[in-house]
Amino acid sequence: MIDLFSRIGRKKQKVKSITQNTTFNLGTQVIHCRLVRTNRRTLVIQVIHQEIVVRAPLCVPDSFILQSLNCKRTWITKQLQLSEVSTSYDTFIDGQGSITYLGKPLSVQLIKVEPAKEARKVLLNRDLIRGCVLEVYIGEDFDTKAVLALIVDWLEGQARDIFKSRLDYFAEKMQVNWHNMRISRAKTRWGSAHQNGTIGLNLALLQCHLEVIDYVVVHELAHLRYMNHQAQFWQLVESTLPNYQTLRKQLKNHKASWWLYG
Ligand SMILES: [Zn+2]
Repeated sequence: MIDLFSRIGRKKQKVKSITQNTTFNLGTQVIHCRLVRTNRRTLVIQVIHQEIVVRAPLCVPDSFILQSLNCKRTWITKQLQLSEVSTSYDTFIDGQGSITYLGKPLSVQLIKVEPAKEARKVLLNRDLIRGCVLEVYIGEDFDTKAVLALIVDWLEGQARDIFKSRLDYFAEKMQVNWHNMRISRAKTRWGSAHQNGTIGLNLALLQCHLEVIDYVVVHELAHLRYMNHQAQFWQLVESTLPNYQTLRKQLKNHKASWWLYG
């Protein structure tokens, strides 16, 4: 409903961004918000924890922003109350509002967004101050399950890219050919290899350091040459990853998050 700017800013503009903290008077209520003007075409209002963020096209007059905020006054008030709840909800995901990604904590930030069509997306944002933050855009009707499903979808996308590039890298080194990759969410196996060249890798591996992922990748690729765990198999693994025993131990100690298993 705030999406009134489809015609504004359609001409190509140089990318620039102006951020200012500002206040608007809505009747008796004073609204503090962070106003971010960029060369976007539409205006969007977000409530991030206790902060209102308005993302607007560069050329939009303040009067229009005020009008938009006024239109959404009830929604904003409600979200500000709800965002106290969502802060505690964040801690639901692995504690401290973060997930483990490639062996490190990655902050997760839930961002309520209006209009709802801007929701249901996940972006990895590199913030100069906060470091990497996983931004999860949600509509009003979100629940725990929906948020986790969005995060799992995002992880699957990352897994496809990361696993594939590691498989390609090590397959060339080891001179084996893989043909197909499957991402699994099995509770009991980190990986699998089939004679036809199909490699299965567990989504939960994305919580481990890249070196540990590499161990599983190398292990499964080695099975394309030796379908057993005999001496030659381990020689191939060791010649590719001399520190594989340390990585294998790390993998044994790894506990994946319950929510990854759906
Ligand atoms: Zn094996």
